[in-house]
Amino acid sequence: MNDGTVIGVIGAGAMGRGIAQIMATGGYRVVLVDTNEVALETALQAIATTLDKAIARNLMTPEDKTAALARITPELALESLASADLVIEAIVEQLEVKAGLFARLETICRNNTLFCTNTSSLSVTKIAAGLVHKSRLVGMHFFNPPHIMKLVEVIETPETPEDVITTVMQLARKIGKQPIRAKDRPGFVVNRCARPYYGEALCILEEGNFTAAQIDTALRSAGYRLGPFELIDLVGADINYAATLSVWEALERHPRYQPFDRLKQQVEAGKLGQKSGEGFTLPK
Ligand code: NAD
Repeated sequence: MNDGTVIGVIGAGAMGRGIAQIMATGGYRVVLVDTNEVALETALQAIATTLDKAIARNLMTPEDKTAALARITPELALESLASADLVIEAIVEQLEVKAGLFARLETICRNNTLFCTNTSSLSVTKIAAGLVHKSRLVGMHFFNPPHIMKLVEVIETPETPEDVITTVMQLARKIGKQPIRAKDRPGFVVNRCARPYYGEALCILEEGNFTAAQIDTALRSAGYRLGPFELIDLVGADINYAATLSVWEALERHPRYQPFDRLKQQVEAGKLGQKSGEGFTLPK
């Protein structure tokens, strides 16, 4: 990866826009693709707002901001990724949809274009299963918000060659992240550990003795950066529920990871958190 490298980012939602931003501020040209034109416009506005905050904190200059925004090209068509050197997917958390997207991408991109999925919890091996060149796809799992969180889990499959891992780890370091190499196991590292954290919090809420705000305050005061409910609202209840379901299924429905109805109800009610304006802790 060098200054002429073109990074494709598919999905301009909470994660895709942040990934596009850090790639652009890292000096890469970015093609940001979303099927929804409004999502693309919202993403570019959100990136500009985040960069304004960085200027206000003297972390970058207005010229840096202009240059970073100029490196991002919003596009509706997947075909615009034909010249990409590496593509990172951040669309819906559904195996068939992600697998279908990469299969289509394989007919558009060069044979040596690397593919990365930002999946929270799905099997990277299964996402790659239908590809002709399976070894080109790895997990590159960023955390929310991508411009702040240092960790990136780089997930290898049994097909992944060493040079692909090295390239993706180097890319992550180049944009200021701290990558760790992870096996393709359910929830990888962080989302596996996080399942019981959310689960116990939902259990306490169901018992009815504490509100979500009280539980969040207790955990924050105990040293956690965010309480479980504000974290669900940040991540999105839909994304959180999808991750919970897929880890539970992948671990043969072990009771420790069983999804709580309370979270499902939240999704069905459209109370997704920051993205819908309503959630466990929203509106304030
Ligand atoms: P989101 O709902 O905010 O955004 C998804 C975007 O993808 C939307 O703008 C949608 O229009 C677009 N999209 C859907 N299908 C598409 C397609 N076929 N082609 C192009 N664009 C398409 O979702 P998100 O929270 O950004 O999550 C995206 C992915 O990142 C998921 O796999 C999720 O599990 C993972 N992830 C999420 C978080 C988090 O905290 N939200 C953290 C790490 C990883």
